Amino acid sequence: MIKVTNLCKSFNGIEVLKDISLQLKKGEVVAVIGPSGTGKSTLLRCINYLEVPDKGEIEIGDIKVDVKTAIKKNIYKLRKSTAMVFQNYNLFKNKTAIENIMEPLLVVKKMKRDEAEKIAVRILKQIGLSDKRDVYPSKLSGGQQQRVGIGRALAVNPEIILFDEPTSALDPERVGEVLDVIKSLAQKNMTMIIVTHEMRFAKEAADKIIFMDKGVIVEEGKPDDIFNSPKNPRTIKFLEQII
Ligand code: ADP
Ligand code: MG
Repeated sequence: MIKVTNLCKSFNGIEVLKDISLQLKKGEVVAVIGPSGTGKSTLLRCINYLEVPDKGEIEIGDIKVDVKTAIKKNIYKLRKSTAMVFQNYNLFKNKTAIENIMEPLLVVKKMKRDEAEKIAVRILKQIGLSDKRDVYPSKLSGGQQQRVGIGRALAVNPEIILFDEPTSALDPERVGEVLDVIKSLAQKNMTMIIVTHEMRFAKEAADKIIFMDKGVIVEEGKPDDIFNSPKNPRTIKFLEQII
């Protein structure tokens, strides 16, 4: 359902992604872990063509984009079938919670206001923020802002949601509520790639762990295997440092 094949990306002659391949089935949750500067964010950004890869192929459902023959129409479709959740929420400060969620429906999906509002109301309920519908981001906690960020991602009904360290800007006591929302999406069979430093969460919520280091996938496997019996020395070293 999601297939990334031989993805390469360099910045200024430095290889940041070196021949990355991975696959996800529908409803699968993959956690990507690894040291900073390793290319995790770049990988997510390449998957939805926020960043144009140098080489490789991205397949989401029946949409296929090869760098060599990248057709604009397919890139557009690829972007529309993915949604991204960022570390810093990236909400519109001058829009309320509900308006933030409605925005992609009005702009991307060109829906009528009342139709968009209906969907946004449902999503607010899903993320547990019905009572905050008319509140501006500055009056929400970090955790609530991130839940709105997730709500906005859900609005476009994506095939896959890409999370880039969704909890790393949060106070520790706010992390749980965001992870709970992500877990509830996993239960609803949402396909997700989550770059995270929360090893406990990765262990609990992910079907598969990918350990990346210096632009390559060093090791991947079931959470139990990666966390309890990692095989590659680099994985072992990383986990020793972090846990
Ligand atoms: P991670 O998310 O694992 O911390 P990144 O994907 O953000 O790693 O970055 C990987 C490497 O690529 C880093 O060395 C970073 O400085 C570099 N990099 C990322 N984006 C750009 C960019 N737009 N221009 C130049 N270098 C970049
Ligand atoms: Mg990053």
